[in-house]
Amino acid sequence: MDSSIVLFGPPGAGKGTQAGRIVQATGKPQVSTGDMLRAAVEEGTELGRIAKGYMESGGLVPDEVIIGLIKERIKQPDASGGLLFDGFPRTIPQAEALEEIAPVSMVIAIHVEDESIVERICGRFTCASCGEVYHDVFRPCKIDSICDSCGGIEFKRRADDSEQTVRARLSAYHEQTSPLESWYESKGLLQRIDGNHSIDQVGNSISNLINE
Ligand SMILES: [Zn+2]
Repeated sequence: MDSSIVLFGPPGAGKGTQAGRIVQATGKPQVSTGDMLRAAVEEGTELGRIAKGYMESGGLVPDEVIIGLIKERIKQPDASGGLLFDGFPRTIPQAEALEEIAPVSMVIAIHVEDESIVERICGRFTCASCGEVYHDVFRPCKIDSICDSCGGIEFKRRADDSEQTVRARLSAYHEQTSPLESWYESKGLLQRIDGNHSIDQVGNSISNLINE
């Protein structure tokens, strides 16, 4: 199996977009443990049944279950060229287990200040009629409170975009990710990317790293 890449990035940092570009550039399929868990539960596999119990009781799915899923995934034929891990590993034991089963050549951590993420996420709103997406700072309506595309005057803001929710998600992310970043840094695998730039600029920094 060729070497894999691990991608870290806080919610709202454009990780999904960058993951898509890495998949295109490297041909390494993206592996999201969240998606795999949901699929395993739906398919009713043994791991899925075990995971379901934890998910329904609101608990964290144990490392062994997650690692079991990854072990299965690595056996698929399309994994031979390496994978792009997104949302995994989340704990040091998971990272240690990954080290045993698949070589990782690079860990890319997209860094964005919490303040800019709060600004990015919390300023979003959409037109209630046509769904056009706006932002208080980055993409305001050309004429205040009138939708550019349909002339609508009603707008929606997502409840989970509230500042408090975003800050809670960010602090959970940092709590989980900092030990992993240090762990990978000590192995010389961590590459920090400044995510405070346009999608294209961040994408170019990542491409430069991958092509080095
Ligand atoms: Zn509209």
